[in-house]
Amino acid sequence: MKLIKAEVLGYCMGVRRAVTMAEEAVKAAAGVHRVYTLGPLIHNPQVLEQFRRQGLEVLDETELPEELKSSVVIIRAHGITPQLETALACKGACLVDATCPTVKKSQMKARSLTDAGYRIFLAGERYHGEVIGIQGYAPACLVVGNPGEAQEKAEILYRRAPTAKTALLGQTTIAPDEYQGIAQAIQAYFPNLEIIDTICKATRDRQHALSKLCLQVDALLVVGGKESANTRRLLAIAQAQGKQAWLVERVAGIPPEIRAYPVVGLAAGASTPDELIDQIANVLTGRVSP
Ligand code: SF4
Repeated sequence: MKLIKAEVLGYCMGVRRAVTMAEEAVKAAAGVHRVYTLGPLIHNPQVLEQFRRQGLEVLDETELPEELKSSVVIIRAHGITPQLETALACKGACLVDATCPTVKKSQMKARSLTDAGYRIFLAGERYHGEVIGIQGYAPACLVVGNPGEAQEKAEILYRRAPTAKTALLGQTTIAPDEYQGIAQAIQAYFPNLEIIDTICKATRDRQHALSKLCLQVDALLVVGGKESANTRRLLAIAQAQGKQAWLVERVAGIPPEIRAYPVVGLAAGASTPDELIDQIANVLTGRVSP
């Protein structure tokens, strides 16, 4: 079997930065302070397990302890709401802000547009941490998951406030054509919609590399966590291009059927560590047995 890797794959800048910040925080606090992340640091089970063994604990934001004095809390790359940040600080936590700078930019934009009187549409997955975090900066924003929902919400807003100033922000991992479809649905009611380009370059690069790879291979493996939005998106893009594709989280998840394809592609989400990509590549090419 011939294996071709995507030109761009694996850790993005924001995830690498968050992982490094967490490693440093764990090392600095060893034996002295408890270190937490608010929710899983990244959507990758192997990395999370490694951190767990080093003593990094995961906090559930719906069940925060009474006190967090003398504890370190790492804010993950997706970011959190400013309200939650304040709640943590009030409980005495020392915060390490690993919010990705690209996400931070979206948060700040949401706040400045709200302050300037815009009605904001936020395109993305309603329950994703990044979307929830951005909503905290623009509490009245309208979250829309697809063009149909965007059309519905734009129509309701138009009936109430036909001259409203509107703007569109998106989850950093949204596919460009999906974002465009949502923008067009809103523009049917608000032609002056301000479309803010919030799609992350790292996401775009990985999606572009995957589309190119699809033209060269018979089937594809996308390596990454099932909870990872950008990994799931890569899988969907491959499948939309008519490729047989699987999402695998670990070596044991490699589907035996893949061996029937002469040329196989390997892509990976932005929260997939290099070691895992290498392990899977080595098993597929027969350099290492599973
Ligand atoms: S995908 Fe982009 S926005 Fe998300 S963490 Fe990585 S660099 Fe930041």
